[in-house]
Amino acid sequence: MKSVTLHDKTFVPYISNAELMAAIDKVAEKIIENHKNDTEPPILLCVLNGSVMFVSELMKRIELPLELMSIKVASYSGTSSVGPVKEVQGLTGSVKGRNVIVCEDIVDTGKTLAYLSETLHERGAAKVEMCTMLTKPDVYKGNIPLDYVGLEIENRFIVGFGLDYDQLGRNINEIYILKQ
Ligand code: 5GP
Ligand code: MG
Repeated sequence: MKSVTLHDKTFVPYISNAELMAAIDKVAEKIIENHKNDTEPPILLCVLNGSVMFVSELMKRIELPLELMSIKVASYSGTSSVGPVKEVQGLTGSVKGRNVIVCEDIVDTGKTLAYLSETLHERGAAKVEMCTMLTKPDVYKGNIPLDYVGLEIENRFIVGFGLDYDQLGRNINEIYILKQ
């Protein structure tokens, strides 16, 4: 089986590009269904850096008027989630009175999600929905509902399709998992 080495760790294929595309198709359909009658274009909020590939695939499938904004947050170091969520780059526009769809690469503990939900409500968003390419249901025990989920995965560390291991691996066009 092909494998990829990033820094000191080896990863093997886990989710194919075709599987990701099919999952993103479904997420886009659901967003269209829920937002086709919106009076104002919804805002897709890309949570940098991990969500760039997901959002670029997702947004081109949503054939509705929409706005794109981004924010950069960080709580991860190496292969584990540590410390509080830090806003590394602030919101790129106003969300006051708007419907915001937060687009995450992966929901793990949900710490990032909780932070974003709180800060978006504080900044006056009318409605905040959560959209994620991947989630680890065994880890996520938060009470904020995930409105749109691409795929559920087991509790293991993955890279690729935007997700990194210490900044490497984001450009891999499918998902790889840490070799056991
Ligand atoms: P949470 O705040 O839900 O614990 O974690 C969310 C962020 O942690 C994600 O946006 C992602 O950047 C990072 N993360 C969580 N699990 C993984 C993983 O398995 N691999 C990688 N590369 N990043 C992860
Ligand atoms: Mg991330």
